[in-house]
Amino acid sequence: MLVSVALPVPLYRVFDYLPPAHSSSSNNAPLPPIGSRVQVSFGRQTLIGIVVAHINASDCPIDPSKLKPIKKVLDDEPLLDEPMLNLARWLARYYHYPLGDVLAVMLPTLIRQGKPLDLLIRHWRVLPNVTEDDFHSNAKKQKQQFAMLKLHGKNGASEDILLMEGMERPFLKRLEDNGLIEHYFEQKPAPLPVSLAKLPLDLNDEQQVAVQQIHHACEQNQYQGFLLNGVTGSGKTEVYLQAMQPVLEAGKQVLVLVPEIGLTPQTKARFASRFAANILLLHSGLNNSQRMQGWQDCRQGHAQIVIGTRSTLLYPFANLGLIIVDEAHDLSYKQQDTLRYQAADVALYRGYQLGIAVVLGTATPSLEQLKLVTDGKLTELQLTKRAGHATTANLQLVDARDKPTEYSQQPDGQPQNTGLTSDTINAIRQTLEAGEQVLVFLNRRGYAPVLLCGACGWQADCPRCEAHLTVHHSQLEQHKPSYLKCHHCDWQAHIPKACPDCGSQNIDPVGMGTTRLSESLHAIFSNPQTSKTTYPIIQIDRDTTRRKDSWEDIYRRINQGKPAILVGTQMVAKGHHFPNVTLVVLPNADRGFLSADFRSPEHTAQLIIQVAGRAGRGDKAGKVLIQTVQPDNPLLLKLVKDGYLAFAHQLLHERQVMGLPPYTHAALIRCEGKTSERTNQALKDALAILPTPNELAVLGPIDAPMHKKNSRYHAQILLLSKNRPHLHQILQQWWEQVLQLPSAKYLKLTLDIDPVGW
Ligand code: ADP
Ligand code: ZN
Ligand code: ZN
Repeated sequence: MLVSVALPVPLYRVFDYLPPAHSSSSNNAPLPPIGSRVQVSFGRQTLIGIVVAHINASDCPIDPSKLKPIKKVLDDEPLLDEPMLNLARWLARYYHYPLGDVLAVMLPTLIRQGKPLDLLIRHWRVLPNVTEDDFHSNAKKQKQQFAMLKLHGKNGASEDILLMEGMERPFLKRLEDNGLIEHYFEQKPAPLPVSLAKLPLDLNDEQQVAVQQIHHACEQNQYQGFLLNGVTGSGKTEVYLQAMQPVLEAGKQVLVLVPEIGLTPQTKARFASRFAANILLLHSGLNNSQRMQGWQDCRQGHAQIVIGTRSTLLYPFANLGLIIVDEAHDLSYKQQDTLRYQAADVALYRGYQLGIAVVLGTATPSLEQLKLVTDGKLTELQLTKRAGHATTANLQLVDARDKPTEYSQQPDGQPQNTGLTSDTINAIRQTLEAGEQVLVFLNRRGYAPVLLCGACGWQADCPRCEAHLTVHHSQLEQHKPSYLKCHHCDWQAHIPKACPDCGSQNIDPVGMGTTRLSESLHAIFSNPQTSKTTYPIIQIDRDTTRRKDSWEDIYRRINQGKPAILVGTQMVAKGHHFPNVTLVVLPNADRGFLSADFRSPEHTAQLIIQVAGRAGRGDKAGKVLIQTVQPDNPLLLKLVKDGYLAFAHQLLHERQVMGLPPYTHAALIRCEGKTSERTNQALKDALAILPTPNELAVLGPIDAPMHKKNSRYHAQILLLSKNRPHLHQILQQWWEQVLQLPSAKYLKLTLDIDPVGW
């Protein structure tokens, strides 16, 4: 017998090895189990791979005598079971990505590096017959820590619990060295059954229908996909909570996927206040050993509710009973490098594979998701009203074409254009005076997006990218350094004193970023010299939330409920619940309707609706002002008048007429290299070997939307087909040949199935 091993190498095949040397001597020594890790030699390296099959003969064109034995078996038991291996195989097939690399994406770093599973946890207990009297009077701290441990009785407690209580590891070590306490290992105890910590809310009719349908699917123990299409504030979370309850009570696990930056201190709290359960939070801030521990807790069933970002979907679960994808339209569900999977899509596959229900919840479903409903592949559950007493905020357009925008007086005495009309400023003032909060949404951090020479038109550009440098500068906090920065490659530069082209000193920041907007609002609403009452301005973007815990601080300030202006980027658009925000202002969010990317209108509308959804979530009614210089734009009018769903269905119709996704299936081939000649040549060569005849629409090779990025050039080919199997069949043959083209050498070629933009 031979053993097929998937290795983390960019080759589209598995590799065969002889069983480990010592087991070949005795005939019935067991082979390393399928799904376990093994160490093998590969060329001159030693790699760790996963056993994927036991076979009788190798189908590799290799001399059997050259086969090498497995060096070492790392697991006695399979690490991944058959459904997990099938998931890996499916991902490899669908995304045309090597199986070994797929497995590498699925496994936490420490597992990949061969670290043994640590299923045992360290406990500490006091030794019998030791008492507080055995301590010197100068060993106060030791004595105090000893006393704390003693409170746990003769079996002591796990190290986790002790550290949480304030004991310190060095002291535990020292007490052990002094022969006063000892450690021992024990398996994690099975979790207690989940119980309710608080009574559920009374559901409204629509919520009730939704919960019943999900319950019904869960009782049947079979796959069903749902689109929980509920307007912002309609109480989707309450539906999740009540849908989960019987699943948890039956001893099964529930996975809740959340978008990348939607993870907030609130997320876990909402689940923890309903259920007494082991709730595991998995996000990008974890270190390797926390991640490995989390992976094991899912696999062993210790975690009963798992709240995690995209990659958590690829974790093994002991007993998964329900998958919920919150804000299912969110773009962060699409991985943008290596294995380019779309987690909301893969969630449906996992549900199908495991025979469980999957709920995609959102106020702004993607067009793909709406089409799945039309095709009968998802069951739609609608929540059309806001829950509780909140009413839906109405959207209002503010024509900003000829209206003068207000100026504010800056600390340096210069007047500054706020970019807000006087109507908008008045609405902000009224809201603050009524004791309520205002959210101003601007999807651009920094001070200004452009630095421009007024004399010759020079603009500060990134030397490495096809992009302007953003001005970072603060008038209010003069101690902060001013500089230019590229938001694509992080290149930084000083702000020049004079124009490098013509020497003029007439160079100015142009346009508005969150810092500048905050400062101009500060001049109007927060300056004690000009206004009687002052209100705090809270800026929320990647720059102000970078520090650990800064989000928590900002949250606390907002949730005190005092009148304030929040100025934020898309970080504030998602899922947050700020009950005292009653006015939302979007100074220029409709710009995306003019973009060349065919997906831009969809994404712009989602963003507008999500941001607008922050208004009036409490008892007071909300208002949304959309300032626009294109008040007649038909898309904008449709969205404002008829709402997101009507808007989305109109877009769907256009996509159908134009033969664009989701009516066709797309594959995007990107090529990246040091010169644009070479990238274009490689793509031309690739096209030349595309199998014919085929039923594909081919666009390209053309420059990618950001042609130059980080000193590298990007070009692309787009393949579209009405027939998904046909597209995949062609890719299956063609893609590996493309990677082996002589002109592709030293270039980075990637394949993106179902790309989100091109
Ligand atoms: P969504 O996720 O749909 O935007 P949330 O789940 O955040 O909405 O709910 C908005 C608010 O409505 C929350 O404060 C929630 O507690 C409340 N809520 C939800 N369902 C009900 C209900 N049936 N009765 C009363 N309040 C509810
Ligand atoms: Zn100039
Ligand atoms: Zn750059």
